[in-house]
Amino acid sequence: MTHRVTLIPGDGIGPEISQATQRVVDATGVAIEWDVVDAGEAAIARTGNPLPPEVVESIRRNRVAIKGPITTPVGKGFRSVNVSLRKQLDLYANVRPCRSRKGVRSRYDNVDLVVVRENTEDLYAGIEFAEGTPEVAELIQWIAQKNGATIRPDSAISIKPISISGSRRIVEFAFKYAEENGRKKVTAVHKANIMKATDGLYLRVAEAVAAEHPDVQFENIIVDNMCMQLVQKPDLYDVLVLPNLYGDIVSDLCAGLVGGLGVAPGANIGEEVALFEPIHGSAPKYAGQNKVNPMAMMYSGVMMLNWIGEREAADRLENALDETIAAGVDVTYDLKQRRDDPTAKGTSQVADALVAKLSKR
Ligand code: NAD
Repeated sequence: MTHRVTLIPGDGIGPEISQATQRVVDATGVAIEWDVVDAGEAAIARTGNPLPPEVVESIRRNRVAIKGPITTPVGKGFRSVNVSLRKQLDLYANVRPCRSRKGVRSRYDNVDLVVVRENTEDLYAGIEFAEGTPEVAELIQWIAQKNGATIRPDSAISIKPISISGSRRIVEFAFKYAEENGRKKVTAVHKANIMKATDGLYLRVAEAVAAEHPDVQFENIIVDNMCMQLVQKPDLYDVLVLPNLYGDIVSDLCAGLVGGLGVAPGANIGEEVALFEPIHGSAPKYAGQNKVNPMAMMYSGVMMLNWIGEREAADRLENALDETIAAGVDVTYDLKQRRDDPTAKGTSQVADALVAKLSKR
């Protein structure tokens, strides 16, 4: 069977790591017809629009996509293409596996956890009122009347919506993920002791969903304690499920626990479609230099192969990546003991080595 997959190369280092990833995924022997579409800088140059409608149409049609990073101009220019994709496709679950890999410098060698972050609500819903505006003055007055709380008049306000439906679908996703991937425990992370309305709701929903999945252990933990536990005993955790803001922070903490950006894959998943991508950005200063590590995107390719049901090929690619990192020869500068090691390989040479390894098996 031939799978159709949308490939968005992205910009900065995106095109180099995308090409490297495409080559190793093809080398697994899985038949994939790549539907290559541009977003970000390449799309602006061609059409004036960073996210042309055919990109979203292609992902909707194929239901599975993999992308390189896309630059978001700070404080000017176009809106984040990543945020637009998440919104337009309702990609509500952000999934980041964090596993210690032999050969990657890190504090621990026994971490194997998955962070599931809610992607659509919470303080990231984009509902904000700037200081000094008539809207914020009205809101401050309304809150004083309804709740008796005094908010300083020179405040800005961001709104934190947390819904029953949004919480239910992310926690259900985490349990389903645990069941399908042989995981034993789900930990819901919150601050319900302080935010009784929003995080309290999240926790209640998580407990209700947990009761529907008796074969998976469940626990809850307050987010500040979670951070300390992760730094001290990360091996105690399996699948973490978090609202958007805590998820954003804790997922970076977990990526740091296992050695950082060069090897950290991710996925954004909705009811209809799944979009896989490395968690790092477009590292513009390295663009076009054949220097950066393509493995984070390649591990995203492993997740994608699993998602489309090609589990055996996914295992082969993951093992090839793990073995290559452990051997420490065909790896980029960031995986060498010293970053200025002259024997570090380039992006395309890492792909060459992996293609050769996969072709031998
Ligand atoms: P970044 O991840 O692009 O780079 C930070 C540093 O990490 C780099 O300078 C480099 O030293 C290192 N690094 C990143 N990827 C690497 C790799 N594959 N191999 C080796 N080293 C690597 O983060 P940034 O500089 O904050 O962001 C640059 C741009 O990327 C911004 O415009 C940002 O908005 C965008 N971004 C996009 C995505 C996405 O498309 N999903 C995610 C994060 C950031």
